[in-house]
Amino acid sequence: MGMSRDITAGSHVWVGDSELAWIDGIVINVYAAEAEIQTSDGRMDVEAPAGGVDDMTKLSYLHEPAVLYNLATRYEINEIYTYCGNILIAINPFQALSHLYDVYLMERYKGAQLGELNPHVYAIADVAYRAMIKEGKSNSILVSGESGAGKTETTKMLMRYLAFLGGHAAAEGRTVEQQVLESNPVLEAFGNAKTVKNNNSSRFGKFVEIQFDKHGQISGAAIRTYLLEKSRVCQLSDPERNYHCFYLLCAAPLEEIERYKLGDPKSFHYLNQSNCYELVGVNDAHDYLATRKAMDIVGISEKEQEAIFRVVAAILHLGNIAFAKGEEDSSMLQDDESKFHLQMTAELLMCDPQALEVALCKRVMITPEEIIERSLDPLGAAVSRDGLAKTIYSRLFDWLVNKINVSIGQDPHSECLIGVLDIYGFESFKISSFEQFCINFTNEKLQQHFNQHVFKMEQAEYQNEEIDWSYVEFVDNQDVLDLIEKKPGGIISLLDEACMFPKSTHETFAQKLYQTFKDHKRFVKPKLARTEFTIAHYAGEVQYQSDQFLDKNKDYVVPEHQDLLSASKCSFVAGLFPSLPEETAKSGKFSSIGSRFKLQLQQLMDILNSTEPHYIRCIKPNNELKPALFGNVNVLQQLRSGGVLEAIRVKCEGYPTHRTFTEFLNRFAILAPEILEGNYEEKVACKWILEKVGLTRYQIGKTKVFLRAGQMAELDARKGKVL
Ligand code: ADP
Ligand code: MG
Repeated sequence: MGMSRDITAGSHVWVGDSELAWIDGIVINVYAAEAEIQTSDGRMDVEAPAGGVDDMTKLSYLHEPAVLYNLATRYEINEIYTYCGNILIAINPFQALSHLYDVYLMERYKGAQLGELNPHVYAIADVAYRAMIKEGKSNSILVSGESGAGKTETTKMLMRYLAFLGGHAAAEGRTVEQQVLESNPVLEAFGNAKTVKNNNSSRFGKFVEIQFDKHGQISGAAIRTYLLEKSRVCQLSDPERNYHCFYLLCAAPLEEIERYKLGDPKSFHYLNQSNCYELVGVNDAHDYLATRKAMDIVGISEKEQEAIFRVVAAILHLGNIAFAKGEEDSSMLQDDESKFHLQMTAELLMCDPQALEVALCKRVMITPEEIIERSLDPLGAAVSRDGLAKTIYSRLFDWLVNKINVSIGQDPHSECLIGVLDIYGFESFKISSFEQFCINFTNEKLQQHFNQHVFKMEQAEYQNEEIDWSYVEFVDNQDVLDLIEKKPGGIISLLDEACMFPKSTHETFAQKLYQTFKDHKRFVKPKLARTEFTIAHYAGEVQYQSDQFLDKNKDYVVPEHQDLLSASKCSFVAGLFPSLPEETAKSGKFSSIGSRFKLQLQQLMDILNSTEPHYIRCIKPNNELKPALFGNVNVLQQLRSGGVLEAIRVKCEGYPTHRTFTEFLNRFAILAPEILEGNYEEKVACKWILEKVGLTRYQIGKTKVFLRAGQMAELDARKGKVL
């Protein structure tokens, strides 16, 4: 009952009812814009699908077309925000709607009740902030959606609003909130890139924790990042771009260009694998200076900034070192140009050029018997070079995040925080690899959190109160999570085992998966597959290519690279490669990216579970990234996979208002003054009031009254008449 995909004659729908709020009915006839419906209490009702309600739970007809129609109607008039109960749906406008974010609007939302004003991100941030102040409990805001849906923009607005609420009057120097806000352009320069889905796509997950003191002022902050996409540093596909910082640096003032011997981005292998160099509406020269300024504000010194961009330049030169076949199976620098770039790389990283060449072209093998130096063929040397580039870049990114955290500072006395999560949405590509596996694992975790919050909590409450409620079905994804992360026996465990066993290949790994999960409902071996496997995720099936799972799971820095750079004369570079304790370096024990990510994710979930969550679901209305284009199918798919439709259903089928008997009586005893005279049990008194007022379809539990949507307002209205 409830959400049918289309309204046709015979569909069951919910009909808005002025008294009962919701009533179920059957569609008798469907005309162009209206439907004739017979409600379960026998009345006939004709109503046009509602247009433009700011909260979906107020919709007259509750089914997918109505939900979609409502969002589309609102989107047309630039009402991009709509509530679904207390979940905010945000549809990317793909155009600047500056009137929506004026400072005077911030003033208006301050302290306003949710629902009093137009739906807005500010309203959600305000609710989180008030709840934190009032209850002394941490809150979190989870922003989700697919790539390009507007998560990062939304996150920035949330942070701006929180800075507005909890900011300091004194505008001297760098305040915590300024530093938090300015960390965005810095992280975006190094962690964002143009992809086919989004011109400014974040290639890492981010959780920003804003700490407050007991006066409700921002007193500290911490930024945690997750899984930066490393492969982008040396591998691009057209028409994407590498990380912004490379292009910014190529557009730096002439003096720097000369110092780093840079030039046209087209001349660098790490950039010219794609034909896209410039972004519409972006001026790299301007952004370079803006990034430098933001770095000043977050506390990165001039000297550190110089070192950071020197390392970025070194990576570009490193990418231009090409190898040719040398004697036997060895390799050598291809030509003078490669020699020049090797020289430049070494100069910029302040390491020895000969040592760099050896580190790129040779490998030392340690066997129990002897130490052998082995030459790499040109292909092997190129892989070694790319590995070095990725390692340097990811260490640089981690350094930046750490530096920002140290410089903003944590407040050890803060007991309350508001966390804002901006993390990659569900991904499914033609070729999905280990990265998608981790990303989708994250989304399964977050979906479970959402389920637990919206559905399980609701159900558990009904169960505790022993009220009669036919349970709403929802897709529980614990089985997918077990498949992925169960220890032992889950995919991540099996992958780690495969990585530790020297003879494993991706074929043996895939075979092991097929064997282990042959009867698992969420695991599918595609027909004819030899190494692919499919997981039935909550948001759809994804086929993974297992080829690179083993390599990508090994977080391994070649000892030659480690030694080379930890010996750099530049303390910044050497600092990126602190020498490892002897045993760890020699033990050969690999470090698993999958397991570490799982742990990070668990820590994130622990934090989230200790907070009161608020959800913002971002929706991408079209794949052309254009304003005023609303693709029904696209939007519906996102509403489904984000659990929004399920949430609407649960809300409306259930009892959104719960009040303890005492609370209820305090508020409504006035509706039946006679009960105050007798000595009634609270429960009986509550029932008396409800019967007297003539409400039906409510429920009375062991300690609480459960009301249907709209019934509280109904009671309040009656009370207004009595007073
Ligand atoms: P995501 O982080 O979900 O991948 P972004 O937040 O980077 O997506 O948004 C992608 C693009 O969409 C932005 O660069 C911006 O052009 C546009 N956009 C998103 N939200 C808004 C908004 N509220 N107002 C105007 N433009 C927006
Ligand atoms: Mg983003």
